[in-house]
Amino acid sequence: MALLQPITARTFYIPGSNNLGFVATADGGAIAIDTGLDKDAGRLIRKALDEAKLPLRAIVNTHHHADHIGGNDFLVRNIPGVPVYAPPLEAALIAHPLLEPIYLSMGAQPIPALQNKWLMAKGVPVDHLIEGAQLTIAGTTLDVIALPGHSLGQIGLAFDGVCFAADGFFGPAILQKHGIPYAQDVGAQLASLGRLAARNDLYFLPGHGDLTPRDQLEELLAVNQSAIEHASATVRAALAEPGDLLAVARRVRAALGLQLAAIPQYAIFVSAVSAHLGYLAQQGQAQLVLEEDGMIWQAAG
Ligand SMILES: [Zn+2]
Repeated sequence: MALLQPITARTFYIPGSNNLGFVATADGGAIAIDTGLDKDAGRLIRKALDEAKLPLRAIVNTHHHADHIGGNDFLVRNIPGVPVYAPPLEAALIAHPLLEPIYLSMGAQPIPALQNKWLMAKGVPVDHLIEGAQLTIAGTTLDVIALPGHSLGQIGLAFDGVCFAADGFFGPAILQKHGIPYAQDVGAQLASLGRLAARNDLYFLPGHGDLTPRDQLEELLAVNQSAIEHASATVRAALAEPGDLLAVARRVRAALGLQLAAIPQYAIFVSAVSAHLGYLAQQGQAQLVLEEDGMIWQAAG
């Protein structure tokens, strides 16, 4: 079976734990939408495009997370001249991947355990910033959909009836596994679900989860919304007693029964709890106060 699975006439994907999306360009080439976790993913993309006789015209990254940009370095080094496109805020982190473990370390130089390939891909220069509602590459125009929330400047892309939704929503198994769908800005994440719901593409491809036909989208978006709201409610309940961020995270982890087996996973989890605390503060349901013990979160409202 061919590596590239067709979706519509000019869109393809390679299914996997990180789905890889492709658009056939007007000039007989292809655009890769995200590049997977590592050089093996980059190699797979090159092999799939060679097999389909579609030369790679560009890489478009939806956001900076390592499992979406990890193949960039291999592709850029092995296919000379391939340009990389990304939204402005994401571009900085794609070019300088150390920034991700730095932000997970509250701004400090990260310990080696946080500098692994799941948190820190190899950086590549970003050649073009994606601004505006459309992006034209090799004579082919894609719709750009703002999907911030999971990551600060995340975008989705749509072409020929397919919306490549990145981590704008997740499949049910992923939601189950993570407990809290990773968020940088919970309010923006919820608004992005609404932006996806308003679209009429034939298919929606999440970064992690099954290719979803339009008639199954609403239900899946509702499951995502419930997961986000459940996470917020759990964080709110953890404020029954005041506590600092790490104390709140401990209570939330226990309440959700999450297995977080390694420091990187725990750091990501704490970051997501922090996003929910910020969201609750915006809603007037939580506040951060400075006490003798330090910065303490407490319930409000
Ligand atoms: Zn992501």
